[in-house]
Formats: sequence, structure tokens, C-alpha cells
Amino acid sequence: MTHRDADDGASQESDGGAVAPDGRGVAPGGAAVVQDGAAVVPHGAAVVPDGAAVVPDGAAVVPGGVLPGLPPPPPPGATALPPGTYSGTVVLVTGGGTGLGKAIAAEFARLGADLVIASRKEDRLKAARDELASLGGRVTAAVCDIRDAERVADVFDVAQEAYGLPDVLVNNAAANFPVPAEDMSPNAWRSVVDITLTGTFLMTREFGRRHLAAGTPGSVIDVGASYAWTGGPGFAHSAAAKAGVKSLVETLAVEWGPYGIQVNGLVPGLMPHDDMTDDIRGNLDRAGDTAAARQPALRVGLPRELGWAATFLASPYARFITGHTLVVDGANWQRRGLVSPPVVTVREQLGLPAFPASHAARTPHTSSAPGTPAAPRAPSAPHTPAAPRTLTAPHAPSASHTSAGPLTSPASPGSPTSPTPPGSRPSPTSPRTTPPAAPPSPRTPRANPPT
Ligand code: NAP
Repeated sequence: MTHRDADDGASQESDGGAVAPDGRGVAPGGAAVVQDGAAVVPHGAAVVPDGAAVVPDGAAVVPGGVLPGLPPPPPPGATALPPGTYSGTVVLVTGGGTGLGKAIAAEFARLGADLVIASRKEDRLKAARDELASLGGRVTAAVCDIRDAERVADVFDVAQEAYGLPDVLVNNAAANFPVPAEDMSPNAWRSVVDITLTGTFLMTREFGRRHLAAGTPGSVIDVGASYAWTGGPGFAHSAAAKAGVKSLVETLAVEWGPYGIQVNGLVPGLMPHDDMTDDIRGNLDRAGDTAAARQPALRVGLPRELGWAATFLASPYARFITGHTLVVDGANWQRRGLVSPPVVTVREQLGLPAFPASHAARTPHTSSAPGTPAAPRAPSAPHTPAAPRTLTAPHAPSASHTSAGPLTSPASPGSPTSPTPPGSRPSPTSPRTTPPAAPPSPRTPRANPPT
């Protein structure tokens, strides 16, 4: 079931089996009924028959007891700033037809802004335009692929013709899906980086050029992700792109500050919504991460909470804030414990086949492949596990590739079954004996995810 609040004009959280409207936690099976902003214990353990695990308002049952978590925010329709704060202001939001982009656009609209929303899919843009227009302001939808500099310029032309040069640019559009790095095709990498990083740059450059030429101030907000700081296992492309976006914020704030242009970042925490792609939704459901008890706030974020933060960052009340990235995630990205959780590989998290048991069960300095002696290695040499690389489908290069490829470092000439595992370096005590040149072998085609 999904939920959309017509008054909000923005996507609200959907339960997807895990999150109820307003961020209420619902245990697997939907059994734990709790109040706004509340959470259930892992695996629904505190649930008594008939869904009776009801705790006081705003509280949550977690292993430590009944805890309040962060309070729920004001209801939909509330504004963070005085009415009319954005009257006479033009705000351009990329990806403003869906999800968080639409939620951000809605909050600017409530405060009187004229909106331009831009993305590739006209039907979604039109539907969002009608929803957003019901909030009071004027709204124009512009079809644009932000990877194309010419189309980007067109969007600014459309905006200028309709309302004037946008005063605020929200770079919210991005693309993402989970995939282990070893399975990521060049096309998948390029696609995510081109949209998320290059598209953000092209939009920002156009915005900057026009303001610099006109001598007018402006404000840019780049929607980011916390793995810009931490790295994002399973999302190497997106994490790298978001790190680039964060860097752009810091660079351009300095370059353009003297001209009156602010550039800030805005990072949402987990904020589920109706428009999430199947890839992302599936990943959240699989991981159980939408369970409120997984968040220090004991609830997930609401899209409107991001919208309120965006309206503050671009407002007159934040004129001395630039080059900053504001994280709106209930401290989830800073979460650490006294005890580290067990490591689960990205492959396992995504339900993909593991590499062979010999790879996982190896013991240092021994070879587990019968008849294949390990290469002699210095006992203390780091990065030189002795296990043979016996990759199999779906990611194994062909046998001939393994013996001749540049990644392999056989234990001895003619011993093609004892190559170096991926990522390892040749031992200083084990001279790298590259086999005689062999013609490159065809690689086994890989099933890469659609991009
Ligand atoms: P979403 O609903 O999938 O929105 C992505 C938007 O980008 C869509 O409107 C899409 O519209 C647009 N877009 C994609 N490629 C484009 C292109 N080449 N040119 C123009 N527009 C393009 O995702 P979301 O969850 O709202 O995420 C919004 C932002 O928040 C993203 O930057 C995301 O990285 C960030 N974020 C979200 C969460 C979360 O919990 N939801 C958490 C961390 C960060 P078209 O398909 O019509 O082009």
C-alpha cells in the first residue's frame, strides 16, 4: 500500500511492508502498531498477539526499553518560514516531478515561489505540475536530460521566459541502483556518474553563468548523500558521484561567493516515498532498513523535513551559510556501536551468488586446491593470501584468461591455477613471474544490471 497526502503535494512514505505513513514503524507482517515516529524492536520481538505492542505516544520499544526517539515533525502543510518568504522568487528543481524533488518543490511553493520542475519524463512532470500548482504558486514543467548541456540551457530559457532567471536552483535529480563493484558495467558507472555529477555540474554552471553575467545573487542547493563521506558499499558509482557533488559545493561556494552566489549541499537520510525505483525500494525492503528501530531517531525521515531544510538554506535567513552540506538524517550516518556488527558482503546483501567456498574458507598461507601448491610467500607479507583464485560463474574470467591475464601472478611458471586473488599484490619475496605472452582471451560475458 502506498499513501499520498493530497494536501502535501509531495510523496509521503509508503509502507512497502515496513513503513507506515508518517514514519510509523510496522513490523514484518505489519503486526507492531506504534505511534507516530515510534519504532518496533528488531524482528517484531516485542509484538504480542493481536498487534498489541502499543507504547506511549511517540515512544518505541527497543532492546533498551521504551524510548521516545526523535519527535515527529509538524503535520503536512506547515511551513518552516514566514508565509510569502519566496514570493516573487523563481525556484528551479531538477527531478521535481517525483519523490524528494517534488517534496522540496512543494515547500517552496507553499512559501510563494514560482516553480520550474525539470526532468526527462513528461507525464510525471505534468502530473506533478498539477499537484504543485494546487498549493498556490505558478508551476512550469520543462523536459530536460541534465546530461545534455544544450537542453540544460533550454530549461533556463524556458524559466526566464516564464518567470525570470531562477533565483534558486535545487539539483535534486540523480540515478542509482545497487550493484557490487565487480559486476558494474562501464555503462552503469557512466550513467550514474553522468546524471548525478555531470548533470549537477552542467545545471550549476548554467545557473552561475547567467547570474554572473547579470550581476545578480542566487542560491544553489545540491541534494547529496551521506556516503559522499563514508563510501557506499554496493553503490560505488553513486557514492563516487555524490562525493564529487560535495566537492563541487565546497569549490563553487568559494569561487562564486564574491559574486553573491551561495552553494550548499543537502543530504537526506532514509526518506522512503512512493516514487522510489523498484531497485532502491527492493534494496530497502531486503535489508529491512526502513524499520524505524534501525534508525537512531527511531523513525525514518519524512520528505517534507527535507523540503523545510531546503527552504531554510536558500532563504534570507541563511545568507551567511555557503559551502556547507547539511545532513537531515537523524544522525543515522554517524551511527557507531561499542560492538561492531558482523560483516556481510555486498553480494550477500543483494542475494547474489557467493564466490566459491575455497575463496571464503581459505586459511592464510595455505592452498586449499588439491595438487596446486601455494606460491612461496613471506609469512608476514601483507596482502598476499595464498588461496588460489578459482572463480566460477557468473564472474569468472575464462580459464585461459586466468592464466594469461594481467591480474594473475602464478606461483611458478606453468602453474596457472595459483594466481593472486583480486586486490592482492605480489609478495616482495615472491618474484612476479608473468607467463609468456599469450593472446588475450575473450572474457566471459557478464550479466550486468540494466542502466
Ligand atoms: P527519485 O524519485 O528516483 O528521483 C530522481 C529524479 O531524478 C526523478 O524525478 C528523475 O526524473 C530525475 N532524473 C533522473 N535522471 C535524470 C536526467 N538524466 N535528467 C533529468 N532528470 C533526471 O529519487 P529520490 O529518492 O526522490 O531522490 C532524490 C535525491 O535525493 C537524489 O539526489 C538522491 O540521490 C537523494 N537521496 C535520496 C534518499 C532517499 O531516501 N530517498 C536518500 C539519500 C539521498 P525522470 O525520470 O523524469 O528524468
